[in-house]
Amino acid sequence: MATLGIPQNTIEVLQKHKFRFQKKFGQNFLIDTHVLDKIIRAADITEKDFVLEIGPGIGTMTQYLCENAGQVMAVEIDANLIPILRETLEAYDNVTVVNDDILKMDIGQVARERNGGRPIKVVANLPYYITTPIIMGLFESHVPLESITVMVQREVAERMQSQPGTKEYGALSLAVQYYARAEIVANVPPNCFMPRPNVGSAVIRLTRHQNNPVEVDDEGFMFRIIRASFNQRRKTLQNGLGNDGSLPVSKEQAARALEQMGLSATIRGEKLSLEQFAKLSNILLGDI
Ligand code: SAM
Repeated sequence: MATLGIPQNTIEVLQKHKFRFQKKFGQNFLIDTHVLDKIIRAADITEKDFVLEIGPGIGTMTQYLCENAGQVMAVEIDANLIPILRETLEAYDNVTVVNDDILKMDIGQVARERNGGRPIKVVANLPYYITTPIIMGLFESHVPLESITVMVQREVAERMQSQPGTKEYGALSLAVQYYARAEIVANVPPNCFMPRPNVGSAVIRLTRHQNNPVEVDDEGFMFRIIRASFNQRRKTLQNGLGNDGSLPVSKEQAARALEQMGLSATIRGEKLSLEQFAKLSNILLGDI
């Protein structure tokens, strides 16, 4: 079948099936073969790979994945797309289409059953309304993962790879960088999609760390500290932590910990690196 990455072919399929876009599902289909090539190259797909695609749409990227991967599983929430996918992917015997909500699936189980527990690759042009829950869900549930190569809103991609002291730096940057090395591989303008989104997009590759980049005694506690620090961005770190009702930390304990680390009493969370957050959380945990 001719590539769906060419706008005319996408239009033909959509008209034939009288498909109606559903805004609530974040449906913006890719219609640019250069961008598709770039995603596949960045994801570094080989025939040894088991690839999970989230939201295949009409199967535009799925076709590219099937050409390059060993096995592909494509999970699509919109039941109206399933008969279309049956047709656009009929040439391939290495693909399984599942009609489900990705947020409700146990991906760890999929990796165990379908890939013998070996790390899988995730590739997707993500529905933007659930970018963070999808990515954090994959990391936090400790799914065996090699990499996640995804199209996201440009601003979100920038937050994922930003460094301390920048205005984009925040809880998402720290969470992503704790689990993976983040690298923006392409910026993608709205005219590469049908319909056009209102925001710019970017492809980001997140390569899972083999070993944790920092030593942390209690991962969950560190992330509570991180969230509390950025919830009150304008406050100093010791006030932010000391006043956060959900944390068992007083302002005095926060001040002592910062002093022990040789940091200023007026420092804000946005200045701390991942390593410093790990150390801070280890000290506080020993003091509560
Ligand atoms: N991959 C296609 C492409 O690049 O042309 C479509 C990408 S579109 C941005 C996002 C896709 O994710 C849509 O097909 C949408 O229906 C699907 N989707 C939205 N929410 C989903 C969910 N919770 N689980 C699975 N798929 C979802």
